[in-house]
Amino acid sequence: MKIKSKKWIDREALKKWREEVLKRDHGMCQVCGNKPNKAHVHHIIPRQVKELRYDVMNGITLDFNHHKVGVLSPHLNALWFSSWLKKNKPEQYNYLTRKLREIEKLKKIKG
Ligand SMILES: [Zn+2]
Repeated sequence: MKIKSKKWIDREALKKWREEVLKRDHGMCQVCGNKPNKAHVHHIIPRQVKELRYDVMNGITLDFNHHKVGVLSPHLNALWFSSWLKKNKPEQYNYLTRKLREIEKLKKIKG
């Protein structure tokens, strides 16, 4: 049996995560409806939070503008993105808020 490295597993899991988010969002930028050739899949909660790293609910499809460079993009304007998400994707917003609370609680227990 070939042993897969941690890095390989992570890369494959992220690839699958990306495909699932794209499929759910029909490859469309969720902010403006644009269907770019190269869609971006954004981690709403940063991927460093490993509990949510491969969670489809933590992904959203965006175009380049609404991902990284636009005045209305999560990387440039976290405050705007947070309220946009709450208003337009309440299910995702509430899920992630709940998950973050749970993660925090577990960390407090573990110390
Ligand atoms: Zn867009």
